[in-house]
Amino acid sequence: MIDALILEGRMVIMIGKNFELIAGAACLNFTNTLGGARGKTNETEYLKNYQDLLNWNLLAGLLSAKQAESLELKSKDHQSEANKVLEKAKELRESIYHIFSAIASGQIPPNSDLVVMNRELEHGLHHQRIVWTLSGYKWGWEEPTELDSLLAPIARSAADLITSADLTHVRECASPSCSWLFMDETRNKSRRWCNMKTCGNRNKLKRFRSRHVRNE
Ligand SMILES: [Zn+2]
Repeated sequence: MIDALILEGRMVIMIGKNFELIAGAACLNFTNTLGGARGKTNETEYLKNYQDLLNWNLLAGLLSAKQAESLELKSKDHQSEANKVLEKAKELRESIYHIFSAIASGQIPPNSDLVVMNRELEHGLHHQRIVWTLSGYKWGWEEPTELDSLLAPIARSAADLITSADLTHVRECASPSCSWLFMDETRNKSRRWCNMKTCGNRNKLKRFRSRHVRNE
């Protein structure tokens, strides 16, 4: 959990937000902005407003503090459009989740979810630009001036992952009370939990208790 973050000299307060970047891919980290297990009683929405969406993008390094600030100002003047973008972002998030959750369990992703991803790519990819960075020229993005400029980089991250050789490393947390996705980068491909400190420990404790009860 992050309480506050200092980016480019500006402190961003994120008290009570469970944004964690444990997945190893931006698109999977984005799916993890829904806590708990999807459809279960512990399901928890961390994207409650457009500001949350900005904060997540800032934390994920997809927006600079200056860019986030200017979109924040714009969103205040266009509240209903900002709410629509939030709904679109959540729709994209759930499609990305369905696609990679299916792949993680060896299933074919639903076509309707690929349609949502492709729609965002079609809408946003023409904003890509070649930009100069300290490590050379790279694919980047023109200045995000629209409230929905946030969506294309997330869709692009999903497109990169689904077409990459690393696709076989996508996993869904083994805990029944969690639906977080992540890349398994362990050497023997044995990572089962999104986070050892939370799901891993909880399930270790559960196994210990059930063993203990059996042995009594
Ligand atoms: Zn988990």
